[in-house]
Amino acid sequence: MRKFLLQNSSVKFIFFDDSTGSNALFTLEKGPHIDIVKIVKSELLENESKIERLFNYSREGYNKIEPISIKLKNLTAVITIIELTRGKEILGLAIDPQLFIRQILNPKIQSISQNEFIISVFNKTSRENIYSTEGINVGNIQNEKDLWLLPEYSLGIVLKGGTIQSLVKERAEINLILLSLLIIILFAGGWIIFRNIKKEIALAKIKSDFVSNVSHELRTPLALISMFAETLEMGRVKTEEKKIEYYTIISRETARLGRIVNRILNFSQMEAGKRKYNFANVQLNAIVEEVFNTYKFHLQNKGFKFTSFPDENIPKIYADKEAVSEAIINIIDNAVKYSQNIKEVELSTGIMGELVYIKIKDHGIGISAQDQKKIFDKFFRVSSGYVHNTKGTGLGLSLVKHIMEAHNGEITLHSTLGTGSSFILKFKTSG
Ligand code: ADP
Repeated sequence: MRKFLLQNSSVKFIFFDDSTGSNALFTLEKGPHIDIVKIVKSELLENESKIERLFNYSREGYNKIEPISIKLKNLTAVITIIELTRGKEILGLAIDPQLFIRQILNPKIQSISQNEFIISVFNKTSRENIYSTEGINVGNIQNEKDLWLLPEYSLGIVLKGGTIQSLVKERAEINLILLSLLIIILFAGGWIIFRNIKKEIALAKIKSDFVSNVSHELRTPLALISMFAETLEMGRVKTEEKKIEYYTIISRETARLGRIVNRILNFSQMEAGKRKYNFANVQLNAIVEEVFNTYKFHLQNKGFKFTSFPDENIPKIYADKEAVSEAIINIIDNAVKYSQNIKEVELSTGIMGELVYIKIKDHGIGISAQDQKKIFDKFFRVSSGYVHNTKGTGLGLSLVKHIMEAHNGEITLHSTLGTGSSFILKFKTSG
């Protein structure tokens, strides 16, 4: 008890009082305490009904605390009922309110105010400021409430730099902004999911189109090869001329079949990141010339005007010869497939800034600006008009893109629907 009183100097004395009216008093003050006992007794008598209520609460297992004032040095006593071995007794702590506010309430109030409010405790009747987190005029207090256990005192609150209403408004605005943000995020999430599902559906369609395109591409040359081979086998072809024509068709279709299979194999190797490149310093003109000579007759047979304009002054490039010719052949193949009325394909080489280029130009059906963004995607084919009726796998340009990426090169496309297209492949020089 003594230790408690020593540690809590705002508690001046502690008293017990049983129902018979006998008292026990603990105080640090020296000397006779008859006066204090007397005063306490009379205060308890004055608050008889309050005490009776506390006993009733206690019987129902509820320990309530109530304040009573003590007419001695402005003290206030807080009383409650406690259960001791000798029965239920009143326990009272007489506290000096001002000391209590400064020593016990002060740190709590400081942490609650959080630098946003000024909180003060003041005497209700005299309006004297007992304690406040910052200097304050009691008259400016916007909101006040009784201090529960110290009925003589009130707690006042003032907002720093504004009114409580403006703080509430500000908080409500912040909440509204957060709510709007949340709604935006929710909508964005929904939209992303919707877009992904749409993409998945489109991809599934593209894949199934690819399977049917590939089987169609394989079936046509196979059907031709087997038909002409059977005709020759049965000895039905009489003239030597016809025989040569059939052999030519068989070898042309075999080459076509070989190209399709190679394209698919190369594509799957690239997709798996397994394609190996043999880089060396090579002359782009030499590659272009070889491709030109190999394809010259094929294109001329199909009624094309096929021309080549090499720039003799271009430096060597650091590239894989096979891969570069494959890229050029794929673009020439497309130029042939997608030319309708004007059948002209033109190759040219040259220098653009630091880069060496090969341009493949046709006067075919052209590509719309919208489709130009997609034609380098795997499996993509323009789905309408002339392209729809032309065979293809949708892999050619995606292979070209892979190859150019492996070379750290660039592809540029200039195309106008109905007028024609120019594909430009640009390479770094070997130096
Ligand atoms: P495909 O096997 O369908 O030719 P590609 O990847 O080579 O596949 O080309 C993708 C699509 O780009 C083609 O289906 C076609 O719609 C379009 N395209 C490519 N080259 C040309 C071109 N020279 N002229 C017009 N359209 C072209």
